[in-house]
Amino acid sequence: MDDDIISNNTNIILEEEENDDTIINLTRKIGKKKDKVWDYFNVVDISNNPHKGAICKFCRQSWKRGKPNDMKSHLALRCPNVNYSIKIEYLHMISSEDISDNEQLTQQQNINRHDIIDITRANKALVRFFVCRGIPFSIVDSPFFQDFVKSLCFEYNPPKRTTLSTTLLNAEAANITLKIEEELHQSKNLTLG
Ligand SMILES: [Zn+2]
Repeated sequence: MDDDIISNNTNIILEEEENDDTIINLTRKIGKKKDKVWDYFNVVDISNNPHKGAICKFCRQSWKRGKPNDMKSHLALRCPNVNYSIKIEYLHMISSEDISDNEQLTQQQNINRHDIIDITRANKALVRFFVCRGIPFSIVDSPFFQDFVKSLCFEYNPPKRTTLSTTLLNAEAANITLKIEEELHQSKNLTLG
């Protein structure tokens, strides 16, 4: 299981680094503040590697390279030992219901808030369609699929396979888990009342 996670990460690292220029890489190394999610992970120094490994303080699962997005979704959805309030905090954080999280998207692509709500809604519909019909995520990268989407709405750029199968799928899982938690909470209150 650990092997899988490590090899997945390696693929993602390669893809990312092909797209980055050196300047961005340098800025990252020098200026970027550590994400708060690292409070819940032990940092592992790896020789000859600028990236840090991570070990979850709750369940001891380890990653060769600690990436905040993976670590957040681990706490929200997969960690068997995390405490409840931290789980809920991170479920909210990765959930796509929380539009304010997409501030980054606004700044990067000059998109207004109204469009972000539309994009979020389209992404949610897309992930539900793929998951509920068992369609392989690689289809989103097909030029035929891209053409079809463009013919419906020129402005909408469907997510890449990696985003669909990680960030968006995790966000949808978080939405569902939060809904279940809410309903459990309500039915508990009813029983007590
Ligand atoms: Zn854990």
